[in-house]
Amino acid sequence: SIKPTKFIWMNGELVEWEKATVHVMSHALHYGSSVFEGIRAYNTPNGPAFFRLQPHLRRLYDSAKIYRMPIPFDQAQLADACHAAVRENGLNSAYLRPLAWRGYGVLGVNPLAAPVDVMIAALEWGAYLGPEALELGVDVCVSSWNRTAPNTIPTMAKAGGNYLSSQLIVMEATLNGYAEGIALDVNGVLSEGSGENLFIIRDGVIYTTPVTAAILPGITRDSVLTLAKEYGYEVREQALPREILYLADEMFFTGTAAEVSPIRSVDGVQVGEGKRGPITTVLQEAFFGLFNGKTEDKWNWLEYLR
Ligand code: PMP
Repeated sequence: SIKPTKFIWMNGELVEWEKATVHVMSHALHYGSSVFEGIRAYNTPNGPAFFRLQPHLRRLYDSAKIYRMPIPFDQAQLADACHAAVRENGLNSAYLRPLAWRGYGVLGVNPLAAPVDVMIAALEWGAYLGPEALELGVDVCVSSWNRTAPNTIPTMAKAGGNYLSSQLIVMEATLNGYAEGIALDVNGVLSEGSGENLFIIRDGVIYTTPVTAAILPGITRDSVLTLAKEYGYEVREQALPREILYLADEMFFTGTAAEVSPIRSVDGVQVGEGKRGPITTVLQEAFFGLFNGKTEDKWNWLEYLR
């Protein structure tokens, strides 16, 4: 459940939480015409810092560009707004949700004449897959739902409408007693979770699914790939068959919300030892080390709150 904060940044100003509302005839509510981001800020030893704020904002503009949606603020303005949303709500760590959407103005499907509204909320949000998930790992299933076919709903855009697919995947999984579902793409190769990218380890090699497999190109995915190379691991982005899920030594999800979450079983088949594996542990510690000061931020991924 959502824990309200004091303010939400909306269309250029901080408005009180209760007043940050939209009209029921907003285009996005009817047709899914929104683009958004999920960004975390961590309370580091040197103060609160955003993790890779600029790449996240860039992806927001990329998503908007695919949908020909002109965001009426530039990236520097939205970065300032992210800072304001954390600072003015008095948060030390936060999950930020920037959202741009086609607002109130047209009834038909064609969105081009609708105004574009923008908001940024900063909230407290703990471990996405539950407090024990990061340590013990989660039980997942393969979804009976595929991700979208190429040239239908583009998965490189993080758009509201894409999450209808994700909702089908996660509802099916949780109603069947799993923490999350892994979807295949329309060609039957592994894609990703409903809100996470997928990593698989076998014989010391780290695999992740490629951008051509209907994934969102995750920023945590990119960060973990970078860290894995830095630590000397062999990494391969390649198409992966479903059955590798049952043969993996280790497996984990990545995502801003899910962070680095180990997977301990798939479809009831135990992964490796059925707990967080050794390479997963190294990468998870390297990732969280960025925020507790144990991993050097060689890439300037942290943007300190101002
Ligand atoms: N795939 C999907 C479908 C997602 O919603 C997310 C979360 N944004 C991810 C992957 C992971 O992306 P990121 O690491 O940039 O949060």
